[in-house]
Amino acid sequence: MGCSKSRASVHWQRLKAACPATPVTRFAPSPTGYLHMGHLLSMAYVFAIADVAGAKVLLRFEDHDRQRCRKEYEQAILDDIAWLGFIPDNWPYVVRQSERGERYRQVMGQLRQEGYTYGCSCSRKDVAALEDQVGEELLYPGLCRDKGLEVKEGVGIRLRVAQGTERCIDLMQGAIEQVPAQQCGDFLLQDNRGNYTYNFAVVVDDLDQGVNLIIRGKDVMHCTGRQLQLGRFLGRQETPLFAHHSLIYDTTGMKLSKRSLSEGIIKRRLAGDAAADVLGEALWLGGLLEAPYPVKAHDIAAAFRFPNSFC
Ligand code: GLU
Repeated sequence: MGCSKSRASVHWQRLKAACPATPVTRFAPSPTGYLHMGHLLSMAYVFAIADVAGAKVLLRFEDHDRQRCRKEYEQAILDDIAWLGFIPDNWPYVVRQSERGERYRQVMGQLRQEGYTYGCSCSRKDVAALEDQVGEELLYPGLCRDKGLEVKEGVGIRLRVAQGTERCIDLMQGAIEQVPAQQCGDFLLQDNRGNYTYNFAVVVDDLDQGVNLIIRGKDVMHCTGRQLQLGRFLGRQETPLFAHHSLIYDTTGMKLSKRSLSEGIIKRRLAGDAAADVLGEALWLGGLLEAPYPVKAHDIAAAFRFPNSFC
């Protein structure tokens, strides 16, 4: 069966050929809302691929955005995970980005000392107003690169992005090639309110936790090249293996975000629904099953043996 037939296929042969000897992956939700069906689909991919690869799964809360994350969401996510039965290897210990400030400060200091960063006083609005913004995301042309700005309140920190193409292998998308200097330019590692950015925190965490198999939604795939580059600047030797899976959005045409709280897993759990029914629905919405039928977490790898996910 050709891979092109399916939007949701995992290339298992590629997994065998490219998998690191001791694979470590992670599920890394941001507690800025309740888990929804999209997260559940992502968790299913993580645990199915980990099962086939023999990988460890780590749970990490990406709560770097201090303004938007809430403890009540965190608790609901933990309860949802326990209810679903997708138990990570570090359970019940969870890595929280909010507890890693000291480590981030140290890494930022190292980058600064090695000349990889600079202070930037431009706001997002300033950058958006620049004339030559033609790509899908904002390209920062390095306006503050040579100003030598002191890093203080109201000043962000950017990475001096190098020219060149970043490459990696993706179990679902094939070979990925990206040129960060043309996509985003010098990207923010810390914003002007003092928040470490997603790109910075995720790279430091993956490096520190030995994560070498990154399974996540295709919505963040455009960040892969810049994350590879930052990882290398921080001394990463091996390129991780990736799987950027399709979203429920792709297969149903339905916009599913954390804002659609009606879809929140918590609601289904509290209503007394069976976890296997909800998981089956998520797989179906993600294009992995022909019809929604119950799937238990410990059978997840078998559910991925259906034609839609196998090539
Ligand atoms: N925290 C991100 C999310 O919730 C995960 C991104 C990643 O896995 O790199 O979408």
